[in-house]
Amino acid sequence: MRLILLGPPGAGKGTQAQRLVHRHGIVQLSTGEMLRAAVAAQTPIGLQAKDIMAAGQLVPDELVIGIISDRLDQPDMKNGFILDGFPRTVPQAEALDELLRHKHLKLDAVIELRVNESALLSRVETRVGEMRARGEEVRVDDTPEVLSKRLASYRSLTEPLIHYYSERRKLLTVDGMMTIEEVTREINRILAAIGAVEPRGAKAAKKADASKRAAKARKAAARSPGRVAKKAAKAAKAPKKAAKAARKAGKSASKAAKKSARRVAGAAKARRFGKPKKATKRVAKKVTKRRAKA
Ligand code: AMP
Repeated sequence: MRLILLGPPGAGKGTQAQRLVHRHGIVQLSTGEMLRAAVAAQTPIGLQAKDIMAAGQLVPDELVIGIISDRLDQPDMKNGFILDGFPRTVPQAEALDELLRHKHLKLDAVIELRVNESALLSRVETRVGEMRARGEEVRVDDTPEVLSKRLASYRSLTEPLIHYYSERRKLLTVDGMMTIEEVTREINRILAAIGAVEPRGAKAAKKADASKRAAKARKAAARSPGRVAKKAAKAAKAPKKAAKAARKAGKSASKAAKKSARRVAGAAKARRFGKPKKATKRVAKKVTKRRAKA
């Protein structure tokens, strides 16, 4: 699954991205996180980005496109990814389209978290408070002044992406003003609706169904081994799924065959030791009658 999370600072992109990572086993690609790591490690990219980020502006497109391009080539991308904070401009979105086309990858959806701007400042303040409580270093750009600049750049440079992806029929909008739990539920619901993920419980239901079918097949095999063996042979002609069925039926058939062999052996033993079964007695009577007539 390949997703983009779109929304202004404080919309909850990071929180929801982590929840999607946890649930679907995909990788979160946050350009903000990568850039902060580069700043902390004082890499050439970090040194270039440091002041721009502190001022609440966007770093040059080529820089983030380069970071994302390298990252998409890593082997951990095979299950999919969720882009958080990228793309942030139309040229970045076009570059991403090109990158994905080149790598033969398809984007499943762009999820826009829509929030009231008035709620963003208090959300960022909450985030700052939580980070302080955890003893984490607070972001230099999480101040009311820088936040207003980040919001301004979101409005002018990032918001046009809503139109960009809506035109390409990729946009799904979720009300980001709901609780974290409700937003997660809504995201998962729409992802299931577009077929990007299986609805919750579908996997468990499939498993239960399969084991029910297996139990039924075992019972049938015990009742009539011949029919099951025939079914297995027929299935063996069809590839893949049938091969599995044949294996399963083969197992059950051999069990049933063993059971019937035991029955036959028991009857033979009984005959040998003078304990004929009812059917044997009837045949013996008929022969005696015929002999008597003759
Ligand atoms: P974020 O953690 O997503 O809020 O990003 C923090 C800062 O990193 C932003 O204010 C920008 O300065 C920079 N940044 C992150 N992602 C991008 C991007 N896709 N394009 C340009 N700058 C970015």
